[in-house]
Parts: sequence; structure tokens; C-alpha cells
Amino acid sequence: MRRQTRTTPRRAQESRRTLKPTTRPLLYIVFRRDDGRGPSQLKDAEREPWTAPRETQPGGVALFYLTGPKRGIWAIGRAATEAAPGKPGKWAKGNRPAYFVQHTNVILFSSPITLDELRNRFPKWTFWNNLRGRRAHLLPEEYRAQLARIVAEKNPSARDLLSPWLSDTEEREQPRYDSGRRSVATVRRLVRDSTFGKLVRQESGGRCAACAADTDYEGLGILQAAHIRPVEERGPDELGNALALCPNHHALFDEGFWTVDHKDGRKIVLQPTLPPEIKQTFRGALRCNWRLDPKELKWHGDNVFRKRSKL
Ligand SMILES: [Zn+2]
Repeated sequence: MRRQTRTTPRRAQESRRTLKPTTRPLLYIVFRRDDGRGPSQLKDAEREPWTAPRETQPGGVALFYLTGPKRGIWAIGRAATEAAPGKPGKWAKGNRPAYFVQHTNVILFSSPITLDELRNRFPKWTFWNNLRGRRAHLLPEEYRAQLARIVAEKNPSARDLLSPWLSDTEEREQPRYDSGRRSVATVRRLVRDSTFGKLVRQESGGRCAACAADTDYEGLGILQAAHIRPVEERGPDELGNALALCPNHHALFDEGFWTVDHKDGRKIVLQPTLPPEIKQTFRGALRCNWRLDPKELKWHGDNVFRKRSKL
């Protein structure tokens, strides 16, 4: 009598294909049922492959959705270079074929992005109606930059992971851009982004530019490099477009609760509607060791700050 051997892993190995880079990194959502360990199980994506759509490619950005009691998008990662076809069945029936794809650089969020949150922010996104039975979906391109912002709110360190995808948004508008050059630009972008963060934090002396308190946030490991005009709005990775901020003043800045007078370059302007206990946390003038670009400050004032005043 022949002993039955487990052949599945081998078969998967044989039919593995190498993912080919295409002109732009993709964003997609992969799903997994909660096995009782909650979001921490998402770290397994780095060891065990997850089902992902056929279009997956190296550098593609994956959002990890956990079903069950703690449902929501709990992590972000990047597709590795190999994929094995998924088993045909319910999953593939009438839909695009799925593959098992390994992911790297999996970063967990401290709180999930819920599907409701996505639906509210992206009212035109009707694809969610088709989710049942499909479980994975590529996201419409026009929402990528916006979604990147939401993800960056959940975990600022996920920003580097998203930068190829953000720079893709910028570069798509440039004509005659071949795929070879594109991938080179993507790599440069990654390097530049992390250098940007380091430089900003270093030059700041560890302090938040807006804080009345003289706290060494860099010492605490929570100082953040903020773009005055965000990357997805074509803001450059330059000191003139940068502020070193604590997490609170960063969030308040991005949401338009305060800005810097672009003519003065130093004067902090607060929304009058801010509660007094928050107003107290601000200095009158910025603490910043470099010159800010008035053009970027004006952009923030005209767009982000003004939008908030109208709410
Ligand atoms: Zn601060």
C-alpha cells in the first residue's frame, strides 16, 4: 500500500511564476479570516503566501483585510516577486483568477480602516457591492492618493511603503515615460523619502515646530517630518516644504486647524474655532531652523486651512 504524501506544496512550487514588473505598482486588498490571534496574524503574510489577484506584481501595495470580530484593514505590505496560482473553486468562479503571493514589509496599524470609512470617503466607489464571493479587488486609480493619506494617518511609517505608488500618481501625467525608467524613478523615490524624514528630524533639534512645550520628541522617537504641501499634491521632499512636528500638531496641520502666514513665514495662524486648551499648546511663531518656501505655505493656506474654515 502506497503511503499518501502531501504533494500540494510541491505542485504549487512547480507552477510558480515570477511576477513581472509593469509600468506602475498596483494597489489591492487581500483578505483573511481571523484565526483568533487578531491583527497579529497578519505578520504571517511575510512567511505564508496570501491569496491576491492575478494582476499582482512586485512592488504592488497590498492592504490586508481581516474578517471576523476585529474586521477591517489592519496592515499594509508589498508583493514579493513570486506567485503560485490559487486553487480553482468558489474563489475563482466567474472572477479573475487569484494567486498565492508572499508579501514583505508588512506594517500593522494601531486601529483598522473600516470598510465604512472607505465607503464614506469614496462615495463613487461602487465596487464594494461586488465583494461577496470575490474577496479581493483592485482599487480605482483616482482614489489611490487619497487612500494613501488615510493609510499614512493610521501609521506614518507606512508612508515610505506608499511612496512608489504616490510618485506613480505624479508621474502618470508625464508623457513618454517608459517602464524601465519608471522603475528606476520608483527606487530613487524611496531612498529620497527616508532621507527626507531623517534630514528634517535632524535639523529640527528634536523639537516640534509648533509646540509651546519644549519636549524632545525625537528622543521619544515620535517626531514626524510633515510635508507642507503633501506628496500626493506634488509637494517636493525639500526642507522648504517641511516641518518637524509632534503627532498632534502634525494631524492638526494636515486637517487645516492651523497654518503659517506665507508672507511672514513664521507666524502661526490658528482656526478661531479651536478649543482654548488646544490653542494653548501652540507657540505664536514657528520654531524652525530653515526657511520655508512661501509658495508651499500659500498652497497650504489656500487649500487646507481655507477648506477647514468653511466647514
Ligand atoms: Zn507639537
